Amino acid sequence: MFILVSQHIHCLVNDCHYWHQGNKCGANEIMVATDEFGSSQPDTIDATMATQFAPMAAGSCMSTCCKSYVTKGSNQINADGIKRMT
Ligand code: SF4
Repeated sequence: MFILVSQHIHCLVNDCHYWHQGNKCGANEIMVATDEFGSSQPDTIDATMATQFAPMAAGSCMSTCCKSYVTKGSNQINADGIKRMT
C-alpha cells in the first residue's frame, strides 16, 4: 500500500490560478500527463478522474504537462473540481 505522508509541489508557472509565492502549487491535487493527452482533453478532465485513465509514456520531460493548469481569472477555474488549498 502506498501512503503519501507529505508532498510539496514546486512550480514556476505564475499565471496559474493555483500558483503561490515561493513557487509553490496550492492545488489540492494535480494531474501530470503527456502533452498529447493534455491538448486533446477538455478542461473538465483532470486529477479528480485520474484513476480512470491508463498510464502513458512521455519519452522526455519536454513531452509532459500539468493538466491542472488554469489561467488566473479564467472562467474555467471551477471546471474540473480541483480546489485551491489556501
Ligand atoms: S496546477 Fe500545475 S501549473 Fe498550476 S501551480 Fe500547480 S503545478 Fe503549477
